[in-house]
Amino acid sequence: MANKKLHTIVIGVIIAVIGGFILSLIEPAKNLFLSLLSTFWNSVLWMWEALFSSYGLPGWALLILSFLALFPLFDVFQLIMKKNSQPHFEYVRDYLHKVNWEWRWFGDQILDLWCYCPSCSGVLIFNDSDRGPYGVGDAKTHFICEHCDHQTKSTIPGVESQALGLIEREIHRKVKTKEYKALLETRAALETNSNNR
Ligand SMILES: [Zn+2]
Repeated sequence: MANKKLHTIVIGVIIAVIGGFILSLIEPAKNLFLSLLSTFWNSVLWMWEALFSSYGLPGWALLILSFLALFPLFDVFQLIMKKNSQPHFEYVRDYLHKVNWEWRWFGDQILDLWCYCPSCSGVLIFNDSDRGPYGVGDAKTHFICEHCDHQTKSTIPGVESQALGLIEREIHRKVKTKEYKALLETRAALETNSNNR
C-alpha cells in the first residue's frame, strides 16, 4: 500500500516539474497544456485503478509503467516547441491601412490583433456605427485616436469584426508570400543603424 502511494507521488512530482517547465516557456500554450495534462492525469488514475486494485503488479512493473506514462507528455512538449519555432513568429507588427497593427501568434492563429496610432502610438478606439444607404452591408469601421483630438486614423470597410478579418487576411497573405521577411530585414537594418549612431 505504501509502495503504491510512493509511486503515485513520484509520478505526480515528475509531471508537476515537467509541466511547470513547459508553462514557464510558453504562455499561450498554457490552456491547451492544462487541459491535456488534466486528461492525461485522469487516464493515469484510471489505469492505476483498473490495473492495480484488481491484480497487483510487482514494483519494477509499476516503475516501467510510470515511465511509459510520461511519453505522451514528451510528444506534447515537442509539438509545442515546434509550433513556437516557426520563422513567421517574429512577424508581430506591421503598418497596414495607415495605422500600426500588433498581434501575437499561436501556431498559425493570430491572437490579440489591435491597432495603434502612427503619430502618438496610442491605442485606437473604433466606431463601426457608420452605415451607408444599404445598411449593415455598407458599414465602415473608423479607428480613432483619443490622444490626437479624436482624429480618424484609419477607415476599413465592414463592421469591426470584418475590419479585423481583413487585416488578418492581409497578415496571412504576407506570411504565405514571405513578404514579411523583407519587412523584418528592413526593421533589423534600421535598428542596427540607430544602435551604431
Ligand atoms: Zn494619436
